[in-house]
Amino acid sequence: MSFDVAAIRAQFPLLQRDVGGKPLAYLDNAATTQKPQAVIDALIDFYTQCNANVHRGAHHLSDEATRRYEKSRDIMAQFLNAQHREEVIWTSGTTEAINLVANGVGQLFKAGDEIIVTELEHHANLVTWQQACKRSGATLKICPIFDTGELDIDAFDALLSENTRLVALPHVSNALGTINPIAHISKKAKQKGAWVLVDGAQGIAHGDVDVQEIGCDFYVFSGHKLFGPTGIGVLWGRKELLEIWPVWQTGGEMISDVNYQNATWGDLPNRLEAGTPNIAGVIGLGAAVTWFSALDMKAMQAHEQDLLEYATNCAHKLEGMRIVGTAPNKIGVMSFQLDNAHPADIGFILDKQGVAIRTGDNCAQPLMKRLGLPGTARASFSIYNTRKDIDQLFEALKKAKQMLA
Ligand code: PLP
Repeated sequence: MSFDVAAIRAQFPLLQRDVGGKPLAYLDNAATTQKPQAVIDALIDFYTQCNANVHRGAHHLSDEATRRYEKSRDIMAQFLNAQHREEVIWTSGTTEAINLVANGVGQLFKAGDEIIVTELEHHANLVTWQQACKRSGATLKICPIFDTGELDIDAFDALLSENTRLVALPHVSNALGTINPIAHISKKAKQKGAWVLVDGAQGIAHGDVDVQEIGCDFYVFSGHKLFGPTGIGVLWGRKELLEIWPVWQTGGEMISDVNYQNATWGDLPNRLEAGTPNIAGVIGLGAAVTWFSALDMKAMQAHEQDLLEYATNCAHKLEGMRIVGTAPNKIGVMSFQLDNAHPADIGFILDKQGVAIRTGDNCAQPLMKRLGLPGTARASFSIYNTRKDIDQLFEALKKAKQMLA
């Protein structure tokens, strides 16, 4: 089935601009995605038509804001195939969602417990668990990868034990693009009675995520990587767990009854959403999910794989270019090195050619050390990219090669 990328692109106003007189080739989608007009309109409409606080006003605007805000929760629950709408907790992003879990179930860890993460982690899903282990006396275990960027499943099996309390791993590696076998890992971890947290920051925008099918306990992600606004994200968690863990943040909205000495907590989802939330962000993310869900997922995935294959073929033809991360099961992320050039220099020269990429450690310093690299240059593709963007990338890389030789 063909994918009408021109029709998709036309819905993203920012993609129409140029940069320094050059057409923009936006290839930094793993950092953040651009926003379709439908999301921009939802934000403008909220602020111009119904801005009010939620869950507390005795007036029409507050009712309307609350309705729109809670409708987004229904949209999200359906999108993730959550069993209960109150399993969707709004956070400021992936980072806050992981911290929320670490300060929730993390309070139940004790000395002797083991937490498994992988060599692929973004700092958000590593440092947070390092800290949780320091607080509780639990031990952090690191599941190794092969040089291709694939997880060593035999090594994972060997690390998993009756002491494992939590396995936390990325759905997709932000630095290398590897898609991890999260359903398989969840199943194995559950057999040992461990909880599973999937960092879905990079997985959520590339295919159907069905949390029940995955079989994990927590799936977390940021709205801004899913065509939604910044400052809004999701913690999906199994209700039985969200209900029992100790609360982290306290304040308005999350309480049931308060006196000068004590307080009792409200029900989910409020008990984990203290204070005035990011109302516009939630509504904008609801609009993003509605927009995204209407796309043909299979055709979208085929389009992204076509871009990855096309870029990989171009890379093989460019002397001195080496792709970092060659797992067979990958999304459209191409980390690379070019001759001995420093990634920052490559990024600088590409920017002058209108090509936006990420350079550096990709917020994964331990992974870069594991691979023996100071960092990489990373081009990451999204649904609105075309082969023309990739041609522009390779023209700019040829120029960089000449200038840095
Ligand atoms: N985890 C992964 C795999 C990521 O790629 C990112 C962001 O790039 C994060 C976590 C953190 O996301 P945020 O900064 O939106 O909280």
